[in-house]
Amino acid sequence: MEKYSCETHIDHALDMFVAETKEFPIMDKLKEEEKLSTKCSYCDAPATYIVSSK
Ligand SMILES: [Zn+2]
Repeated sequence: MEKYSCETHIDHALDMFVAETKEFPIMDKLKEEEKLSTKCSYCDAPATYIVSSK
């Protein structure tokens, strides 16, 4: 599972990821070209981070 998050929602994204997957979340910054086409999972802002478990 992967979640995308803006600067505002990264704490929420990490909490939700742990709650849903019971796995330790790994947070990475998106590449510039990925930011342009990816929105935050929790609002309409462009995503800054990706949260995944590997
Ligand atoms: Zn957001």
